[in-house]
Amino acid sequence: MHELSLLAPVVAAVSRAAQAADAPTVEAVGLRVGTLSGADVEALEGAWSIAVADSPALRHARLDIQTVPAAIWCPGCQAEVEIDEFYALRCPVCGTPSGNLVHGREFEVAYAQVPDAPDPDASAPPNTACGTPTST
Ligand SMILES: [Zn+2]
Repeated sequence: MHELSLLAPVVAAVSRAAQAADAPTVEAVGLRVGTLSGADVEALEGAWSIAVADSPALRHARLDIQTVPAAIWCPGCQAEVEIDEFYALRCPVCGTPSGNLVHGREFEVAYAQVPDAPDPDASAPPNTACGTPTST
């Protein structure tokens, strides 16, 4: 299963981070998955219990998947435009082609929640890419 091999490094990274933070267990893992990442959310959820089966720290962790719609930066509109319908690298508003995919390929740990931890985000890199609210 493709998704299992995607989750293995996630489980390994979170488990290492939990160990470093002296947290014996992880309650939940947040994962940001772009619609163009190639990962199937349902398959990820299905593979999660298998992926964490051998990890004492993550065995009971919940997987929270946040999907990230694909978006390009359109030079014509001077705006970030979602392209969630056809995945064409072309602005759906004005038709300007743009290869500047700003969202959609994400596959990253958003957070790892551990019990009684003052800083649950210690394992995740700060997210600077997604500060712009999108309107649909
Ligand atoms: Zn445009």
